Amino acid sequence: MKYDVIIIGAGPGGIFSAYELMKKSPGLKVAVFEAGYSLEKRRCPIDGKKVKSCIKCPTCAIMSGFGGAGAFSDGKYNITNDFGGTLYEHIGRKEAIDLMYYVDEINVNHGGESTRMFSTAGTKFKKLCMQNKLKLLDASVRHLGTDINYIVLENMYNEMKSHIDFYFHTPVEHVEKLEEGYRIHYGEDKYEDCEECIISVGRSGSKWMEKVCQELDIPTKSNRVDIGVRVELPAVIFSDLTDELYESKIVYRTEKFEDNVRTFCMNPNGIVVNENTNGIVTVNGHSYEGAEKQTENTNFALLVAKHFSEPFKDSNGYGESIARLSNMLGGGVIVQRFGDLVRGRRSNTKRIEEGLVTPTLAATPGDLSLVLPKRILDGIIEMIYALDKIAPGTANDDTLLYGVEVKFYNMEVEIDENLESRYKGLYIIGDGSGVTHSLSHASASGVYVARKIAEKQ
Ligand SMILES: Cc1cc2nc3c(=O)[nH]c(=O)nc-3n(C[C@H](O)[C@H](O)[C@H](O)COP(=O)(O)OP(=O)(O)OC[C@H]3O[C@@H](n4cnc5c(N)ncnc54)[C@H](O)[C@@H]3O)c2cc1C
Repeated sequence: MKYDVIIIGAGPGGIFSAYELMKKSPGLKVAVFEAGYSLEKRRCPIDGKKVKSCIKCPTCAIMSGFGGAGAFSDGKYNITNDFGGTLYEHIGRKEAIDLMYYVDEINVNHGGESTRMFSTAGTKFKKLCMQNKLKLLDASVRHLGTDINYIVLENMYNEMKSHIDFYFHTPVEHVEKLEEGYRIHYGEDKYEDCEECIISVGRSGSKWMEKVCQELDIPTKSNRVDIGVRVELPAVIFSDLTDELYESKIVYRTEKFEDNVRTFCMNPNGIVVNENTNGIVTVNGHSYEGAEKQTENTNFALLVAKHFSEPFKDSNGYGESIARLSNMLGGGVIVQRFGDLVRGRRSNTKRIEEGLVTPTLAATPGDLSLVLPKRILDGIIEMIYALDKIAPGTANDDTLLYGVEVKFYNMEVEIDENLESRYKGLYIIGDGSGVTHSLSHASASGVYVARKIAEKQ
């Protein structure tokens, strides 16, 4: 055996597994295999000038590499069991929260000490939301910001690099079960063996994870997909909420269909960005802690969760088809003024330019009603009017809607209370397991399995 532990994927799940193993069992020989590049080599070619839109690189620098999908994210670490995954169902509510606070401590000690922790405890917005048929979910959130998040990752890597073997730009092809331990195949006929293996391949590894589960006969169940738009408006409209809470997760139950629409990933003074998932361009958002990079806009997603029942199983395929439709019509992401949407007309460049909100993403003006199913669009429009009551101005004509935003979920892999698959020593964690959907939960799952392995030594 060359390695005691091999970790596949260097996103937050893999990083926190590696970090905790280094701390708790420094004698173990640990390797991390990562399909993408090291942090400093991660560069998305879109520069807004020469390369204006996604050119579909073989490995997406936004989604892959050291830091995973979270590396250039807003770095919002939400400490809560109310959203961000269902880790608590496996390890218990208290353990999950304790681990999320532990992750926070590590982030703070690696460059995040100047950042702020926000909390919904005791806020007046809870009542205001309830009075307007909205529900504010409970959470504490550490906002690192894209810039500090990068520094934290850099510091953690520097601390680990002489203790752990990192194989970058090395996608793992297969995981083979040996009589004792596992064989990790990569490149052309290359492999490494290990006693225990932690798979943490995130969303970008979802198709690969499905293949591994088929090959090893690990049971899975299909999950949900969230579909919606990213809203962009002047930051002052949402400033009462964002100044106090930074990010508020608000849920609205639609009158017509009784669907839940929720806010997601709020970026005060942030920018709207493209996201590439399996070659399909969708929309997302970022914000920065440093004042020099901040904009005058705030953006957030409004998403509707779609759960499918038998016989349909391909919830991600459904989301992909809708995103593909927007790519087909707009060549990428479509942007529309709220006023144009409710009047039933497409937006054009002139109307967007004349509007009071300057878009932070160069998207194609178009008509989202040609892309989003009626049920989803109606829900989003209803929620915008509900939000207008707690943040007046949300339903202004010039509010921009970018589409589509799709939150894909990995199918849920069958794992036990140790986050271990039906094979002893094969752990499946983070977003790749379908159990977590956030930085905090993915990182906490990494610490959890590292401790389980350390306890055995
Ligand atoms: C733009 C953006 C903004 C976000 N903002 C936030 C936020 O503010 N707060 C929040 O909580 N969440 C946010 N998220 C979600 C968050 O980033 C993820 O929940 C989190 O990164 C999941 O961590 P993970 O380790 O499970 O997977 P990932 O971060 O996806 O990492 C998985 C890694 O595995 C690698 N990999 C995949 N397949 C293989 C293979 N076969 N071999 C080797 N390596 C492989 C990938 O290259 C990747 O680097 C954001 C996501 C995006 C895309």
